[in-house]
Amino acid sequence: MRRVDILVIGGGIAGVSAAARFAQRSETILLERESALGYHSSGRSATFYHFGIGDDAVRGLTAASRHFFANPPGGEELPPLWQTKSAMFFATAETMDQLTALETEMRRFSDNISQVGPAEMQAIVPVLKVGTGGAVAGLVDTGGRKLDADLLLQANARALRAAGGEIHFHAGVTGIAHDGSDWIVDTVEESYAARIVVNAAGAWADEFAAIAGVRPLGLIPLRRTIIGFDPPQGLDVSDWPFLKTVFDDGFYMLPDAGRLLASPMDVTPSPACDAQPEDYETALAAWRVEEATTLSVDRIALKWAGLRSFVADKVPTAGFAPDAPGFFWLAGQGGYGLQTSPAMALAAEALLFDLPWPELLREHGVEPRQIRPERLYV
Ligand SMILES: Cc1cc2nc3c(=O)[nH]c(=O)nc-3n(C[C@H](O)[C@H](O)[C@H](O)COP(=O)(O)OP(=O)(O)OC[C@H]3O[C@@H](n4cnc5c(N)ncnc54)[C@H](O)[C@@H]3O)c2cc1C
Repeated sequence: MRRVDILVIGGGIAGVSAAARFAQRSETILLERESALGYHSSGRSATFYHFGIGDDAVRGLTAASRHFFANPPGGEELPPLWQTKSAMFFATAETMDQLTALETEMRRFSDNISQVGPAEMQAIVPVLKVGTGGAVAGLVDTGGRKLDADLLLQANARALRAAGGEIHFHAGVTGIAHDGSDWIVDTVEESYAARIVVNAAGAWADEFAAIAGVRPLGLIPLRRTIIGFDPPQGLDVSDWPFLKTVFDDGFYMLPDAGRLLASPMDVTPSPACDAQPEDYETALAAWRVEEATTLSVDRIALKWAGLRSFVADKVPTAGFAPDAPGFFWLAGQGGYGLQTSPAMALAAEALLFDLPWPELLREHGVEPRQIRPERLYV
């Protein structure tokens, strides 16, 4: 049996970014069931960083992550983890109140917000339908960024290994029990005894807790679909922003590697699984793009789906389980797990090692009570 201080379960962005921090202070091994990091949600996102999503806690975590993305440790040897890319949120006449509310919320966290009218919106995205029945007003956030998910995962993995940590692939946990002093964790190939187990199992986090006999958080995985299609020949879309409706039954769209990606922003409950795109949501994505723009989606060149997992208040959770010694939660990253990952890793480090609460988090209004699991058990 292999002995280790900290065993992190899950090689998505949550697990690897936190493990990279833990390994600076204590012996850490990360177990991932698949053959690569980011095989599930972390490799299937839109990889965007913006303030148009979440509540104040999520926006605070997003703001607190900015410094890491701009100056990653060892960054001089890496390509940039992100590229500048504005976000533009738009409303129809019926949804103007949502735009007003969003502007107030975003302005608390970003100084880069400006209002735009129909003509400006069309200058930015020439295919957008404006006026009656279409977009009537928008908000542009020049603080938006396109993240590189693969680079982000690899940068964290490199930091983890540089600190002496290990990543074990094909290491799905099949059994876990507490023997009175340690967690005994079994995978097909090896068994481990760990003082602390970190549950960063993404959509499987509640199932994993149940095997350990720990009370679940009430996590709900929601499937989200993305399609990719070619823009009209000769149209350069590379400077288009991340374009998103302020209303829920809408869509978002962004340029990526010469194509346009679009999502109908579906929120379909799903069991934890290797999520696949369904015909309905794939067609819905194309239809919503065609309804709001003059584009026609003649051929869907690529499509995928992934799970966004939320707890009741939709704020990511980090902290020791109140009902089990040495069982640490790092789950419920929802639709913002990449953009909040540096701040969540910092928070997890502080909570796991009982360190003073980081000033960076406090500056952005993030307090332990907002993310610790206890808040979910009232
Ligand atoms: C379509 C889509 C768009 C998104 N867009 C954005 C965006 O623009 N910006 C943003 O910040 N976020 C976005 N997200 C959300 C983001 O992808 C997630 O919040 C984030 O990836 C969650 O990371 P995670 O590490 O918790 O989960 P995961 O990446 O799913 O990692 C969990 C890992 O745990 C492993 N695991 C589970 N059980 C076990 C076990 N028993 N033993 C060993 N390993 C196990 C799994 O194999 C998996 O690799 C999007 C998500 C989707 C689906």
